[in-house]
Amino acid sequence: GTRGNKKKERESITVKGIRISSPDKDMYDGDQITKEEVARYYHLVSERMIPYVSERVLSIMRCPDGIGECFYQKHLDQIGKGLEKIEITEKDGDREDYVYIGSEEGVLSAVQMGTLEFHIWGSTVDKLEFPDMIVFDLDPAEGMKVDKVREGVRDMKKILDELSLTSFLKTSGGKGYHVVVPVNRTADWDRVRDFAKLCAQAMEERWPEKYTSNMRKEKRKGKIFIDWVRNGRSATSVAPYSLRARKGAPVSVPIFWEELDEITPNQIKLRDIEERLEKEDPWKDFFKVHQGIRGQMDE
Ligand code: ATP
Ligand code: MN
Ligand code: MN
Repeated sequence: GTRGNKKKERESITVKGIRISSPDKDMYDGDQITKEEVARYYHLVSERMIPYVSERVLSIMRCPDGIGECFYQKHLDQIGKGLEKIEITEKDGDREDYVYIGSEEGVLSAVQMGTLEFHIWGSTVDKLEFPDMIVFDLDPAEGMKVDKVREGVRDMKKILDELSLTSFLKTSGGKGYHVVVPVNRTADWDRVRDFAKLCAQAMEERWPEKYTSNMRKEKRKGKIFIDWVRNGRSATSVAPYSLRARKGAPVSVPIFWEELDEITPNQIKLRDIEERLEKEDPWKDFFKVHQGIRGQMDE
């Protein structure tokens, strides 16, 4: 008989012209979020996501058998449709091939390889050495209450407001929030990283009991680490609308500042996104903001 037997799994499907093998595979550890659902998710969000993820050097988190076993990958031997290679000279002078997304198909080609998370550089390949965004990643100490993390986000915004810098907010899909500042492509990586560090230090100096700019774990006790290190050349942070490879399929999702008190860092999940896409885009002005960091916070 067939009772109790699993329905026969399909070999492959096609999404946006890209072949997705093993579409019925459960990617999320018993949550029955399949590879097909992941592919359809990325197809659904692509219009919102593509401006932030395409033309940017990638580090992908692949989980070919689901979230139980994942790995980051920056260099790929084989790439699929919509993925492009770029040769980059590293600090030590070595030249290495990296990968970026050239079109929406690239997102799905990555999904076909088991990718769940997309991590990006803060610059685009046409002007690699000049970032167009700065990411402040607020990393709360173990067990910190979310209201304290929200206070950190507001304090971060205060510092940026005082510098007349417009900033945008997203959940990380994990434990914290990310405050992202679009910038003109006039300052190079070193300047941007130094500036991000100065901002983190300003937080620490003004509220030393609440924030640290020191990445060492033992300095973080009870505090939020203002992770400015995301802003160095070759560092990455998770892309807007990327899924996370964590239980329940949370998303790193752009939110309005007014939503900060209503939305926790890992609240919005894959299956919540369709509803959010019907509403206004919280980051619709992101690339309309023109602002520079030159002359800001100089010693
Ligand atoms: P959370 O809110 O839980 O902190 P997060 O995405 O901010 O979520 P972090 O640990 O603060 O997570 O940030 C780590 C970031 O560093 C990742 O998002 C990723 O972009 C980058 N990263 C960490 N390890 C690697 C790695 N081995 N290869 C590439 N990128 C990495
Ligand atoms: Mn973080
Ligand atoms: Mn971090």
